[in-house]
Amino acid sequence: MSSKDKKVVIKFRAHHLLCILGFQGVGYSKKFIVNMENIIEVFRADGSSEVGLIHQCDDVCKYCPHNIGGRCQKKNSSAKNSPTIMDLKLLERLEIVSGAIIRISEAMSLIKERVDLNFMRNMCKDCEWKSLGSCEEGLKRLLSSEKVSF
Ligand code: SF4
Repeated sequence: MSSKDKKVVIKFRAHHLLCILGFQGVGYSKKFIVNMENIIEVFRADGSSEVGLIHQCDDVCKYCPHNIGGRCQKKNSSAKNSPTIMDLKLLERLEIVSGAIIRISEAMSLIKERVDLNFMRNMCKDCEWKSLGSCEEGLKRLLSSEKVSF
């Protein structure tokens, strides 16, 4: 394989796997939203797209105003349920080591197998976007679908 064929690995905070399930085009800024939409488009177009699952700032955080110097400075980031804690909880649930690179379709299969609504409600309880209800709807769609699509 030539370097031209080499796939780009999208750096992804683990908890963002659940955010993309119900993303409705709302977010922290216009740039943030467009970037998120582009990433989701890549995932939908090609389930073999690779994600490097981490618990630090990623390719989504890149355009977030809360990302200062490569660290999430969101008000609740030092609380018990900070974005990093959420990442670690999900990684543990999926039995994935931070830094692992897997296909997005594989990540979705694992979510389908191991994540349920109660887990999401608890993990995302302090998220400012939770009240939109769209992430939960997205998870319900994934869990009830025969396919691993989102
Ligand atoms: S709030 Fe923090 S974790 Fe969420 S996208 Fe912004 S920088 Fe990343």
